[in-house]
Amino acid sequence: MYDRMSLQSFFNPKSVAIIGASRQKGKVGYEILANLVAGGYAGKIFPVNRKADTIDGLKVYPDLASIGEAPDLAIVIVPARFVKGLMEECAKAGVKSVIIITAGFKEVGPDGKRLEEDVVRIARQSGIRFIGPNCLGLISPSRNLNASFGGDLPVPGGIAYISQSGALLAAILDTANANGIGFSSLVSIGNKADLDELDLIQAFGSQAETKVIAGYLENIKDGNAFVREAEIISVKKPILLMKSGGTEAGAQAASSHTGSLAGGEVAYESAFKRAGVIRCESIKEQFDFAQAFANQPLPKGPKVAVITNAGGPGIMAADAIEQKGLTFAGLTEDTKKKLAEKLPAAANVNNPVDVLGDALADRYEFALDVVLDDPNVDSAVVLLTPQAMTQSGETAEAVTRISAKKGKPVLACFLGASKVEEGLAVLRKGGVPQYDSPESAVNTLSAMSDYVRWRSRPKRVVRLFSVNRRKVENIVERHLRQGMLDIGEAEAKEIIEAYGFATPRGSIATTANQAANIAQQLGYPVVLKIWSPDILHKSDVGGVKVGLKSEQEVKDAFDLMMYRIPKKKPEANILGVLVQEMVRTSGKEVILGMHRDPHFGPLMMFGMGGILVEVLKDVSFYLAPLTAEEAKQMLVNTKTYHILKGVRGQEGVDIEAIAEGLQRVSQLVTEFPEIKEMDINPYVVSALGTTPIAVDARISLEKK
Ligand code: ADP
Ligand code: MG
Repeated sequence: MYDRMSLQSFFNPKSVAIIGASRQKGKVGYEILANLVAGGYAGKIFPVNRKADTIDGLKVYPDLASIGEAPDLAIVIVPARFVKGLMEECAKAGVKSVIIITAGFKEVGPDGKRLEEDVVRIARQSGIRFIGPNCLGLISPSRNLNASFGGDLPVPGGIAYISQSGALLAAILDTANANGIGFSSLVSIGNKADLDELDLIQAFGSQAETKVIAGYLENIKDGNAFVREAEIISVKKPILLMKSGGTEAGAQAASSHTGSLAGGEVAYESAFKRAGVIRCESIKEQFDFAQAFANQPLPKGPKVAVITNAGGPGIMAADAIEQKGLTFAGLTEDTKKKLAEKLPAAANVNNPVDVLGDALADRYEFALDVVLDDPNVDSAVVLLTPQAMTQSGETAEAVTRISAKKGKPVLACFLGASKVEEGLAVLRKGGVPQYDSPESAVNTLSAMSDYVRWRSRPKRVVRLFSVNRRKVENIVERHLRQGMLDIGEAEAKEIIEAYGFATPRGSIATTANQAANIAQQLGYPVVLKIWSPDILHKSDVGGVKVGLKSEQEVKDAFDLMMYRIPKKKPEANILGVLVQEMVRTSGKEVILGMHRDPHFGPLMMFGMGGILVEVLKDVSFYLAPLTAEEAKQMLVNTKTYHILKGVRGQEGVDIEAIAEGLQRVSQLVTEFPEIKEMDINPYVVSALGTTPIAVDARISLEKK
């Protein structure tokens, strides 16, 4: 990797060359030039085309060399087969920043991929950074720079947008322009052969005019770097992402339960959570969030007040507040008294404050002023329905005025269309975001309050347990040397014992008599399990018999297994039968697992365990290494948690012990990148103060 930079010359170039500029309307080479001119770009523009001499009155240069100076930014629009040559020309002319609009690279197949790699090589050799290929370009409204064919220049604002889909960017631009939404920059990153999402997120992170970073991504180039860096940037600026696709990792075959339950999506979900990235489900939601984050202060807490001129929408807002886990603010007596003094007698001075249908702007202004001063209020939603006397414009002005001086977020929801048009325009200008329903406004406040909570989370401290790392190294090395990638129950247990797990006592028997002797030593009841490196899931072939209470039962079970299993699995090399102590049957069976995600590394899993884990699918995931809080949160995120805590008079189990088990597995898989996936299933847990037992474990390796 090389240094990431501020990308200054992309967003604020003093001169721009358009290589492949065209005279022909409708051609990209014309449209980009026309957009640049129409946007009012104040720097120098150098159209380059071997044939033309002028385009719309602008002087055209036959090549870069004849310009006589190196432009800050070059936009390349020529056909794919000429791009390599032009990059070499850029290198010679001393151009450092390039946008390659041209398509026909990696996205079209192996030939295009090779071409793209050649272009990257030239860029690396000559110190050029480039955006694209296969993109729509870049827009920087505050510099009047529209170096794209995505649409008209939007107004300047605090949102930076990154899109992996050009078409989506065009749609976003159109929506934004229709609603007067402002941007600091918009970038179509195309195939991201050089500059990728993280480079841009980092550039926006240190750009003063950007308040919020938003984007649409289909994948992330370097998962680990993304999590590490985005976590740092998220603290300063919220990152709002839409993410589609993500089945790549889930598609591969898995031998563990964890592997087959972990798709690519859960890894992204965890990565976003860890990095504080706010995931948006739709363009609308993303705009809803972005406008509030860009224009309003963050709430100090979850307490929301609602001001309305009608009962219905007020109740809708109240329901949404409850549903989203926010708090419906209880106003102080002082606030209620003040409100009662000036509002009509019929008005409701409790939250939601109802200023009544005949409210004019002054009533809203007064109520909002008083309510926002209340120490019990962290944010406010102003609802307005257009009634006969409603003053949408004046009310919007009042709301904007008050919101600007209180330091608490105010979100508006003026319902209706033509009757509130005037008000909406005023709100937009004043930076008070407007929502099309009370639910959308509340949903946005909930995202803001989640973000605030994430920002004030305790510092991540990963506990390190003292373990016998040496022992694990030996087992892992020997398996890899012998090309054995699956570690069976016996040695998997040695590994987890080295990391502090307790396992049931037991030994291998090769005859029925031997089995009975071992059982005698262990004490009844015992469990018999088939012992074969070729049988992954023992129960599936009748290879587990629990609760054997006597010598006779042990012998019978032994004989039955030895008779039946070779018939079911003739190819399996059966080494004998494991006679194992039976662990407390009152315990609960959970699963602790890990699956190494190709993008984000070790992904931990917790869930209801036993043989039904894949049927019940009550599992949760998080990226390792885990802190104590994160491990605990993984438990809380499952339905099983309620059962573990104890329901309807049933005694609960030792929750902290399970969380500790997860942290120990997390340490194991972090210290051994060769471990590709593993399950401890079942991990049998009982009442507080008892030691949980790892009854079964499987580990598989990969060569590093
Ligand atoms: P596999 O997962 O290969 O089928 P396990 O060793 O996990 O085999 O055994 C299957 C099930 O049998 C466990 O989920 C557990 O319910 C029960 N079981 C196995 N060993 C014991 C034991 N030592 N004590 C109590 N129950 C056990
Ligand atoms: Mg098992």
